[in-house]
Amino acid sequence: MRAKTFKGGIHPKEYKELSNQCPITPAFPASKTVTIPVTMGGAPNQPLVKVGDEVAKGQIIASGEGFMNCPVHSSVSGKVKKIQNCLITGNGMAPCIIIEADDAGRETLLPVLNPFETTKEQALARIKEAGIVGMGGASFPAHVKLNPPADKIIDYVLINAAECEPYLTCDERTMLEQPAKVIDGLAIVMHIINGGKDGQGHAKGIIVLEDNKEYILPALENEIAAAGYADKMSVCLVKTKYPQGAEKFIVSAATGREIPSAKLPADAGCVICNVGSICSISDAFRLGMPLIERSLTISGGAVEKPVNLRVPVGTIVSDLMPSCFTLKSEGASEPVKIISGGPMMGFAMASADFPVAKGTSGVTFLTEKETFLEEESQCISCGSCVAKCAMRLSPALIVRELKAGNIEKAKSFGLMDCIECGCCAFVCPAKVNLIQRIRLGKGIVRQKMAEEKTKAAAKAAAEKAEGGK
Ligand code: SF4
Ligand code: SF4
Repeated sequence: MRAKTFKGGIHPKEYKELSNQCPITPAFPASKTVTIPVTMGGAPNQPLVKVGDEVAKGQIIASGEGFMNCPVHSSVSGKVKKIQNCLITGNGMAPCIIIEADDAGRETLLPVLNPFETTKEQALARIKEAGIVGMGGASFPAHVKLNPPADKIIDYVLINAAECEPYLTCDERTMLEQPAKVIDGLAIVMHIINGGKDGQGHAKGIIVLEDNKEYILPALENEIAAAGYADKMSVCLVKTKYPQGAEKFIVSAATGREIPSAKLPADAGCVICNVGSICSISDAFRLGMPLIERSLTISGGAVEKPVNLRVPVGTIVSDLMPSCFTLKSEGASEPVKIISGGPMMGFAMASADFPVAKGTSGVTFLTEKETFLEEESQCISCGSCVAKCAMRLSPALIVRELKAGNIEKAKSFGLMDCIECGCCAFVCPAKVNLIQRIRLGKGIVRQKMAEEKTKAAAKAAAEKAEGGK
């Protein structure tokens, strides 16, 4: 099978060998305490419990009324100790529910449900009830993603199995250890996208796999054949190149289609799910299990023995030391940077005292040698960033305009099309802080848009009130 690819991109050292031989091992925080963010994707939730309440594993503890809300469940049987702002991924503070586990073993799972006997609406309701979000990092609510507008005809359900971030291997291990669950989850999503038990849809499933994981291909193909889905599902091999896992490149490699600028995969007739999310969808039906646990990779040159773990959502990363992993402490091997996620698209964290959320695919502890902490200097107009940008942008030009405060000009150069892959910063010989400046610029644009939306809503409400007099 010839592997497909895209123009641009980079080949950072993969470091997959540090952890891809490590089976996913169940683990529990040493303090027996979890810190669960009230919102992990979707609209802001409200806590439904108070300090002192006893909760069951699987009980909904935070939620909201809106379509975009995604409920959050307790990942342990225990007692609510505190509800307070805590450090979360991204280095911000956010409301979290702190629960101390007990030995009572209270559990509130959902009733087991045959996914293929459900209507589309029933299946989407189950996915929402189970609190499933995109587990690759974006944490977009799955019940919204799997319900595209009626005018978007979906031809393909794609599983993003590229896992192109260096160091991270939990998706690779999941496919190797549980191929049947991956195929089942894909079949369930295809059932939903095709309209449920009365549906007429024709969408096919494609698992998009980087060729550094080609050895998993036979297991996936055998499972597809054994489940009787050979005419509906296939595996597409793509070249190992960063950022192959970006939605735009997953779609073009698997289907030959282009997602138009500022549009979504649904605009190219595709829906894309992450490996972890697809397994959680299977669990939500087959086991009645909400999204209360997740697999993640703990790796990096500063980790003694990198691992793949399965932990309760809300586990504080540092609470897994030293029982599950330890850090090196000698000179050049010491960690100088902690990243929630992988080094290319993850978030640098001030400490490891933050909780594993639904979207935390890994934590990377980097040594000085593994980081790009050199001082920023002047752009020398070498053009390397332009050559490597797979979105065909001119990062140097965008950043020049941002530095000058010309947001509109930066937008006209494609600021909002940037997928924040970090390829430009990776190759820049002057170590210009391209990605940080672009993220900042996008944040300013988004804030402006939100302010304009609020103003417009207030104006409309005032006009309505005026008209009603
Ligand atoms: S400009 Fe954006 S999309 Fe292009 S390489 Fe840089 S981070 Fe990636
Ligand atoms: S790679 Fe760095 S130095 Fe070269 S043009 Fe881009 S920003 Fe300037």
